[in-house]
Amino acid sequence: MSHLISKLEFKPLGYGYNTLEPYIDAQTMELHHSKHHQAYFNNTMKWAEEHGPLDISFEELFSKISGYPDFLRNNAGGHYNHELFWSLLKLNGGSEPVGNLAEAIRNEFGSYAKFREIFGQAAISRFGSGWAWLILNKEGKLEVTSTANQDNPLMNTVQQNGKPLLGLDVWEHAYYLKYQNRRPEYIEAFWNVVNWAEADKRFNNG
Ligand code: MN
Repeated sequence: MSHLISKLEFKPLGYGYNTLEPYIDAQTMELHHSKHHQAYFNNTMKWAEEHGPLDISFEELFSKISGYPDFLRNNAGGHYNHELFWSLLKLNGGSEPVGNLAEAIRNEFGSYAKFREIFGQAAISRFGSGWAWLILNKEGKLEVTSTANQDNPLMNTVQQNGKPLLGLDVWEHAYYLKYQNRRPEYIEAFWNVVNWAEADKRFNNG
């Protein structure tokens, strides 16, 4: 994802809208990708056309996002976060973390179960709209954080900075059709669709 923002194209999901059933339903996936995500993308490109070009990567933009308007922060964050989120989803049948990341999770949190509890709490307690994250912080340690709206841990406006390894969208648009107000059930279901191999790859790439 280190491409220049002005040159980006909107990508298909890479799997079917029904692939994550029954944990995340097809209608939610379709609306989420083709309407919500597409709108963040379109708004980002519109801003780049009118005020750009944005010939920088998202990582660079986010590292100095405090110098840009909220419109760009919200929409560029929205695009980046969703593209990352789609890549981190895969039907896994409840399987657990793999590779070096699995070991790092055990070392940092004591166990996978304990990590799930901490991450779940961050996702439940995020008031309103936002994201829960597992990040690799600047000290090279794993940390669970959460951000409001479409902010993310790469932005210089958030308190806990780092590289996102795993993210969970807890906006109501991510779960309301199937789970209504039951965000905790959506979070439980999420553990069945985490692409742990992808998260491990992100961890190994530093
Ligand atoms: Mn979303």
